Amino acid sequence: MRIGHGYDVHRLVAGRRLVLGGVEIPWELGLLGHSDADVLTHAVMDALLGAVALGDIGVLFPDTDSAYEGADSLALLKRVAAVLDKKGYKVGNVDATVVAQRPKLAPYIPAMREKLAAAMGVDVAQVSVKATTEECLGFTGAGEGIAAHAVALAEKSM
Ligand code: MG
Repeated sequence: MRIGHGYDVHRLVAGRRLVLGGVEIPWELGLLGHSDADVLTHAVMDALLGAVALGDIGVLFPDTDSAYEGADSLALLKRVAAVLDKKGYKVGNVDATVVAQRPKLAPYIPAMREKLAAAMGVDVAQVSVKATTEECLGFTGAGEGIAAHAVALAEKSM
């Protein structure tokens, strides 16, 4: 077994969609980025790539490449799972935390877990997503951005 860690931040701005774990959340602000800026999915991908020491998503999907402009991060996650598979590993489990002051994310978490699990080709029971605020402290507390942390276990497939 190998463990990996991922961390990502995106800025909240007007006029962008808010997509977390592949779920579009109705909100007055959205995340800024080259792709769909799905900060949760990005942290999960970095955790998976970290587990097999294959760098990060910036290496795999460079933001200088126009192919990834507005990219669906779930589709990229599917590709990361395929990279692990090719390396002889399968996803054991993922645990992620989204740090956001607003909006309330709890109602959307079951759908995020479903979508992330489907993209990785694992059971929803292998995917945990949690959300927390930072008590109005720092950039997440001020609503300037959303952060996500993730850890993942990669297991050698037989
Ligand atoms: Mg990112």
